[in-house]
Amino acid sequence: MKLNDLNKIAGSFNSTAKMPVLFLGHGSPMNAIEENEFVTGFRKVGTEITKPNAILCVSAHWETRGTYVTAMPSPRTIHDFGGFPPDLFAVQYPAPGSPELAEETRRLITQTNVEADNKWGLDHGAWSVIKHMYPDADVPVIQLSLDYRQSPQYHYDLAKQLASLRQKGVLIIGSGNLVHNLRMVAWDKLNVSGFGYDWAIEADTKMKKFILDDNHDALINYGKLGDAVRLSIPTPEHYLPLLYTLALKEKEDRVQLFNDKAVGGSLTMTSVKIA
Ligand code: ZN
Repeated sequence: MKLNDLNKIAGSFNSTAKMPVLFLGHGSPMNAIEENEFVTGFRKVGTEITKPNAILCVSAHWETRGTYVTAMPSPRTIHDFGGFPPDLFAVQYPAPGSPELAEETRRLITQTNVEADNKWGLDHGAWSVIKHMYPDADVPVIQLSLDYRQSPQYHYDLAKQLASLRQKGVLIIGSGNLVHNLRMVAWDKLNVSGFGYDWAIEADTKMKKFILDDNHDALINYGKLGDAVRLSIPTPEHYLPLLYTLALKEKEDRVQLFNDKAVGGSLTMTSVKIA
């Protein structure tokens, strides 16, 4: 690395006031192009936060063997879904990447060897929500992948190594869903506002209480939380981004919930702001 490059890193990520950390319930990809209360919630949280130097997003939709960070200067918009209207496939979110932040992230994480990725880009877990917060696509975005072989505790511990980025103007976003069981979606009740099955509401309520009580151990060991939680988290990828967000909470931070509503019976959009 040349001295010039080092100066560039120091220059792009000056010390700032501590940035918030978010968990965003992204729900259906259609939230990218619809107008609804959830989109309003994403926009609102965007206006509440000082504009970041860059965003690091941990999306449910990038699972890998090992841990990767996107390192390309111009990440492509990935349409990683099927059966949606052409309007959704037409969406481009041309936010720049940040090879500098990717490098800094690789340096900070010592728990494992994080590899630089030049193939992925931004999946809909990232762009479908970030586009509402920063519609001009003028904030650089990188993604950190989820190593699907690892335990919840491993992900929580790895996330803690990102803590110093909060002081460098980096907004860290976990993007998933608290309750996410696609096999049980009540397709006929998608338009019934707030409709959630009893078990979904029970699990969401239980998890929210642990979030607000800072009981992270209970949330890391979610396999022990009973049948309602088991039904709500049939696979871990939409849940794990929450653990990344919670791991970055410091003592003096406050936790706020927003977009706190069920959709289609078996999904909740519950989102968390830590600031
Ligand atoms: Zn998803």
